[in-house]
Amino acid sequence: MRRTYRGDAIEVSFDLDLCTHIGECLRRQPEVFELRRRPWIVPDAASADEIAAVVERCPSGALQYRRLDGGAEELGPEPAVVTPMRNGPLLVRGRVEVRREDGTLEVLGFRAPGDVFHIELSPVRLQRAFPMSKADDPRE
Ligand code: SF4
Repeated sequence: MRRTYRGDAIEVSFDLDLCTHIGECLRRQPEVFELRRRPWIVPDAASADEIAAVVERCPSGALQYRRLDGGAEELGPEPAVVTPMRNGPLLVRGRVEVRREDGTLEVLGFRAPGDVFHIELSPVRLQRAFPMSKADDPRE
């Protein structure tokens, strides 16, 4: 379920079901994103531009933002970019359309960092190969 955290200049939302526990948010902006604090996201703890830049690095789309100050809204790159990682998954950035067998169309909104992606240790990934499970994640 997606929850919304509203600040004066920017609103950030989070869906734990989508989070892949990469930890970009927690490592890059600990004053805004703090795993065990409630609320765990404080959108007034940094500028809207700084928060938007971090949210855009969230590779899963678990984090999204909406500007309340008239700033540029979040957009995925067009066309979509798919980057194979060595021994790893595909990183998909941008809007992807999937056509089902019955002809219906599903639109996916994956986002991922555009530069070389390294998995770093973070509060949600204390060992590189073992992210925190969703069951253990204290965020809601
Ligand atoms: S996928 Fe990574 S950056 Fe996005 S919310 Fe989860 S831990 Fe934060």
